[in-house]
Amino acid sequence: MKITIAIDGPAASGKSTTAAQVARALGYSHLNSGLLYRAITWAAVERDWPLDEEGFDRRLGNLDLSLEPAGFGFRVLVDGTDPGVSLVSPATSAMVSEISARPAVRERVLHLLEREGGRGGVVCDGRDIGTVVFPTAELKVFLVASPEERARRRLLEQGIDPTTEAVREEAARLSARDTFDSGRAVAPLRRAADAIELDTTEMGASEVVQRIVSLALARESRVS
Ligand code: C5P
Repeated sequence: MKITIAIDGPAASGKSTTAAQVARALGYSHLNSGLLYRAITWAAVERDWPLDEEGFDRRLGNLDLSLEPAGFGFRVLVDGTDPGVSLVSPATSAMVSEISARPAVRERVLHLLEREGGRGGVVCDGRDIGTVVFPTAELKVFLVASPEERARRRLLEQGIDPTTEAVREEAARLSARDTFDSGRAVAPLRRAADAIELDTTEMGASEVVQRIVSLALARESRVS
């Protein structure tokens, strides 16, 4: 029987790439929750939404945000259009923690994730998946890696030379986002008590995927 897999962890810990590959290996769907927070943030910045609660929440209420199946995952559509690479731009990344700490934003994303993933057969990655979104997930994984290694991977992903200075700066940006995400009142970044922690600092990407797939196959046979 297909199960629900929650993958959480700090920024750039490899959650989305890992989740996508695990989904492909198991024939599941990948739900990238960070992209939904990024889509709302992108709309708020691009359209210059007011930041007071009433004004912001009214604009959010009018936003057409949807998920469209694409391969083993989903594309996020804002008013029917995929914002593409703007979702991962430095400008969006710089604002996303602040925007995603708003209760109305969390409620909106939670609703979408529950609707798409509630029937199982999903690998969902984020910060609060094992604790808030799918607290009864059969398999919960919490991915960690040193800030420097996460920064190095993120720079390489962006085609930037990971010099000592560039790694230091990127690690500081990632750590600031983690501190904000861990400290917020609603659904903070936290490892669920029943999550398996994997430190990937010294692990290759395929090794991480293999470990999670093996765990998932064991859980699948237990629930069937
Ligand atoms: O995973 P990614 O780095 O794309 O997430 C971007 C931001 O979205 C995070 O820093 C966090 O502020 C927010 N987020 C969240 N809860 C999730 C996923 C992402 O608050 N489940």
